[in-house]
Amino acid sequence: MTSIDRCPACGGANLTPFYAKDRVASHSCLLMDSEEEALAFPKGDLRISFCDDCAFVFNTDYDGHLAAYSEKYEETQAFSAFFREFARDLAKRWVDKYDLHGKSVLEIGCGKGEFLVNMIEQGAGTGIGIDPGVHPERIAPELEGKLTWIADYYSPSYNHLKADAVVCRHTLEHISPVGDFMRNIREAIGDQPDTIVLFELPDVLRILEDAAYWDVYYEHCTYFSAGSLARLFRATGFEVLEVTREYDDQYLVIEARPSTVPAPGEPLEIEDDIARLAAALAPFEQKVNSSLDNWADEIRAVRARGGRVAIWGSGSKGVSFFAGLGEASKLVDYAVDINPYKHGKYMAGSGHLIVGPERLVEDKPELVIVMNPIYLGEIGDELKKLGVTTELKEV
Ligand SMILES: [Zn+2]
Repeated sequence: MTSIDRCPACGGANLTPFYAKDRVASHSCLLMDSEEEALAFPKGDLRISFCDDCAFVFNTDYDGHLAAYSEKYEETQAFSAFFREFARDLAKRWVDKYDLHGKSVLEIGCGKGEFLVNMIEQGAGTGIGIDPGVHPERIAPELEGKLTWIADYYSPSYNHLKADAVVCRHTLEHISPVGDFMRNIREAIGDQPDTIVLFELPDVLRILEDAAYWDVYYEHCTYFSAGSLARLFRATGFEVLEVTREYDDQYLVIEARPSTVPAPGEPLEIEDDIARLAAALAPFEQKVNSSLDNWADEIRAVRARGGRVAIWGSGSKGVSFFAGLGEASKLVDYAVDINPYKHGKYMAGSGHLIVGPERLVEDKPELVIVMNPIYLGEIGDELKKLGVTTELKEV
C-alpha cells in the first residue's frame, strides 16, 4: 500500500510524522462471536502525521479497504445516561438556535439513529438517516412515519436528498478524503443558502496535549482541531458560524452554512491553534510509552498478588489501550460494558471477553481501569448499587 503524501484537508505536502504503531485492529466496534475470530481480526498500521500548513492530523497509512462498517457495528454510547443527556441537550440547542421546528434534518453517519430521534423529540419535523450500521428496529414505532433510514455510506448518489439541516456527528473522523467529503456535501446543498450544517467530532488538541493514545486508533484516520476544522470548512465553501469545545473538551462542535469558495469571514479566536498543536507533537510518543509502561507494571503487580484486573469500556478506547499494552494486555481478565448488546462478545484484536457489570459482584477484581474518565461518576454509582468495592482508576 502506498501511503498518503498530501494533506487530504488542504492539499499541502509539508507533513510531520510523530506517532507510529504497528498492527492495530482495523475496527474497534465490531463485535466478534469468538476469541479466535477476534484475535484473527484484520490489522493495519498507524502512521500519524501533522500537516504543517493547516494543522490537520491523519494516518498516512490508512487503507479504506479494511473498513467494514455494517449492522454488526456497535458504536453507540447511548447506554450511558451522561452521553444521552449531552446528545439531548445538543439536539435541543440546535433545534432552538436554528429554528428547526417542523423542519427536515439529514444526518450523515446516523449510527443507530438515536440523535435523529432526539432532534424530532425536540421539535424537528422529519429526519433522514444514512449509515451502513442503521438499526431501525431499535427506534420507537410512534416516530416511524417521520424518519427514513438508508443503510449505506454517504456518497454523491445521495445528492438529491435535501434538508433544512445537515447533521454529522462522530463520523468525519472515520473519513480519510475529508476534502472530497466536504465538497460533496457542499455540492449536494447547492443553491440553498439557508441550509444549516452541524458537525460534532473529537478534538485533537486534547488528545495531543494529554497524550490520549487510547483515542488514537485505526478507525479514526482523521483528527481535527478547532482551527483545522474551520479552515477545511471555509476552503470547501462553508461559512463558519461558531466552533465550540464540549463534553469536557473532548469534542468539537462546528456550526456553518453554505457560502462561496473560499468562504467569507475572519478566523475565530479558537482557531488560532497551530503553534500549540505543533508544540505537543514532539513529547507525544514518549509520554504515551511511559504511561503504557506504568500501566503494564501496575497490572503485573496486581496479578502477582493474585488479584484480578478488568477494564471498563470495550469500545475503541479499550481496543486501543489493549493494543498499546501489548503482552501485558493478556493479564487483564475482561472488559466491562453497560451495553447489553456487547455481552458475551469479544473485542477485535486483543480477543478480550465483554461482560456486564454484574460479573464484578462474583469476581471482585482488585483493579478496574476506566477508559473514559467522564463516566467515572456513573460507574462509581453503578458499583455502589451492586455492592462492589474495587479500585477504580482512570486511564
Ligand atoms: Zn493540511
